[in-house]
Amino acid sequence: MTTRTTGLPRKDLFDIPSDIVYLDGNSLGPPLRGSAQQAVEVVSDEWEKDLIQAWNSANWMSMPRIVGDQIAPVIGVQPGSVAMGDTLSIKAYQALAAALDIRPDRRVILSDSGNFPTDLYIAQGLIDTLDRGHKLATPPPDEVEEHIDEEVAVVYLTHVDYRTGRMHDMDAITKRAHECGAVTIWDLAHSAGAVPLEMRQTNTEFAVGCTYKFLNGGPGAPAFIYIRPDIVNSIRPALTGWLGHKDPFAMDLRYDPAMSTERFRIGTPPVVQFKLLHFAMKIWDLVDMSDIRLAATRLSELFIEEVERRCPILDLVSPRNASNRGSQVSFASDEAYSIIQALIDSGVIGDFREPNILRFGIAPLYLDENDMVRAAETLEHVMKAEIWREPKYQVKKQVT
Ligand SMILES: *Cc1c(COP(=O)(O)O)cnc(C)c1O
Repeated sequence: MTTRTTGLPRKDLFDIPSDIVYLDGNSLGPPLRGSAQQAVEVVSDEWEKDLIQAWNSANWMSMPRIVGDQIAPVIGVQPGSVAMGDTLSIKAYQALAAALDIRPDRRVILSDSGNFPTDLYIAQGLIDTLDRGHKLATPPPDEVEEHIDEEVAVVYLTHVDYRTGRMHDMDAITKRAHECGAVTIWDLAHSAGAVPLEMRQTNTEFAVGCTYKFLNGGPGAPAFIYIRPDIVNSIRPALTGWLGHKDPFAMDLRYDPAMSTERFRIGTPPVVQFKLLHFAMKIWDLVDMSDIRLAATRLSELFIEEVERRCPILDLVSPRNASNRGSQVSFASDEAYSIIQALIDSGVIGDFREPNILRFGIAPLYLDENDMVRAAETLEHVMKAEIWREPKYQVKKQVT
């Protein structure tokens, strides 16, 4: 995996059953070919043979830093500025606690009503824990900018809306926030690996994201947090675990944070997950994000056109203008849940989101025009033949 190519898709790099069209890589990316072997090797070559020594001999303890340096170019930041571990919910908590600490005199956390629930729950929980009278404001996404004022401590937003794919103008919002003296946190859950990002240029203080969506790190893959390097050493981490200490193995009784991004580490890294993510990240040496974006736009437009022509009863809820949309396309229907279940049974995997959304992730790494047309044709068949009416498609599963 060394030469870059503009050739997309790269289906050859993935293990996806050939009879399905996978439009859910925005929720769980598929495995890269060879992922299973990676997991086997960690267990049989490293853990089994070296036991505890593998923390050194197989570089286990350095995996968070190594993988953080693979994430950095994908989100447009400098090496050494990304800490890895835990889940996105926890990284969001760390960022938010730190941001509130930077603006102790202000009380408003500004998010929006389209944000992913966990981001909002984390804020609500932190507000309760701090008990200092903070308020969470959640105006509609298109009104966020006008709510930024001198009361706002932190602007805490998800760049690409998980339901509709609507994309915030990150540069404009960050600039406005900074003009008002607010700190910014961008959640890149649906952006990293999907759209070109230049987080360093935005000058945001924090960015967080997960790696099991468009970065294909596998279920439970560790999350990331970027902290602007000029402020990282003045930040008091909220979750002060031993691996964020400046010398974990000194076993000091007093917490003293690492003088680097490492202070945002907490505890023992999930090594198997890290190795899988490390392997999956190699793909970004082969492809260019601007090519990905171009291809995603082309595929999305084709899909919208095909679906609207074949299923006019479905309403597009994603922005029609590609520049305001991330890498997903969503439609609304009262029967969205049943339609998606019937579609999945017919080999086209998308997903359902409350209250009435059919959601399709467009990942050009492993999707082409034929896949888009086949997905639209299958959707048309499910709708016209009313296959979704079958009782088995009405039953709600635990994970939708
Ligand atoms: C997927 C997603 C999450 C998931 O958080 P986890 O802690 O990894 O479960 C959080 N926020 C957003 C915006 C997401 O899209």
